[in-house]
Amino acid sequence: MAYNGLIEKYGSFLNLPKHTKTISLLEGNTPLIPAPNLAKYFGLKFELFIKYEGLNPTGSFKDRGMTAAVSEAAGRESHTVICASTGNTAASAAAYAARANIKSIVLIPQGKVATGKLAGAIAYGAQVVQIDGSFDDALTMVVDISNKHPICLVNSINPYRIEGQKTSAFEICDTLGNAPDVLCIPVGNAGNITSYWAGFQQYHQAKGTQLPVILGVQAEGAAPLVLGHPVEKPETIATAIRIGKPARGEQALEAADQSGGNITAVSDDEILHMQKQLAGLEGIWVEPASVAGLAGLYKQTKNGTFDPSGKTIVAVCTGHGMKDPDIITRGFGHPQVISPNIAALEKVIL
Ligand SMILES: *Cc1c(COP(=O)(O)O)cnc(C)c1O
Repeated sequence: MAYNGLIEKYGSFLNLPKHTKTISLLEGNTPLIPAPNLAKYFGLKFELFIKYEGLNPTGSFKDRGMTAAVSEAAGRESHTVICASTGNTAASAAAYAARANIKSIVLIPQGKVATGKLAGAIAYGAQVVQIDGSFDDALTMVVDISNKHPICLVNSINPYRIEGQKTSAFEICDTLGNAPDVLCIPVGNAGNITSYWAGFQQYHQAKGTQLPVILGVQAEGAAPLVLGHPVEKPETIATAIRIGKPARGEQALEAADQSGGNITAVSDDEILHMQKQLAGLEGIWVEPASVAGLAGLYKQTKNGTFDPSGKTIVAVCTGHGMKDPDIITRGFGHPQVISPNIAALEKVIL
């Protein structure tokens, strides 16, 4: 049977209202890629898979939740959607709104959005507004304005976002024939970790699959769930998780706790190091925030707080590397220039 998107495939597992009118870009169905070279780099014997969410239509997992949220909005003839975004939500909302013939407005923190994300939002036709403030300020603003005017909020506070994002957990179980032993995942506003846990629990009840241990990972400069209090001025190169006051923080802590896992933090250097290892050892290039889960797993493995031996582990890699090309090219300078002849080429490559 042809693949017709997530709502077609998993609709019976999603709590969406009757009026929902499917708006799909055939999102989801992303590959679960074995990563044996990276597992070897860890120095222990275990099975590692990358759930490569950068291969969604707009380059991040946000499309899973957005197909649900925009389909619900379109079904009740909402004319405008709005979101606060560090970039990927903006691009995704703009794309699905375009397809539904709905206006989209996105609020982004000034100067802190990666090139590929901003370009996406503009290309899909969103009205882009910069806030002289943080993501958390922008989120407060869109919540207030959507309470005041008939504008549909599509941040992950929207329950349909969570419904849609559960599908990644379903796909992992369907591919492996069971849930993994461990799932590691980046945590920003905490909608995604909440969704995975809900999805795994639902499949556990419906299909008897096991429940994985969830390891959630934040960036050290934006780690409110590790510190136990909001962070006023979050800072990290991993802009997608540069969030100081996660909307679903409580649920994230609950998910980690109930699953027997935890939420930890990694430094920007640890994130960049893992981004390089994943690209160099496996040919999978993801944006910095996307490797936070893997970087956290590596850190816990190295300092002995977690032993992956013999386990099946899935690392969720949330967005494509092309979203944030500057982070790579910035450190590289310019490629070497040579004369246009074989002798010059031989000199530099042999
Ligand atoms: C949104 C996003 C995250 C964080 O997800 P939350 O649901 O906010 O925790 C991580 N990585 C990427 C690439 C994202 O776009």
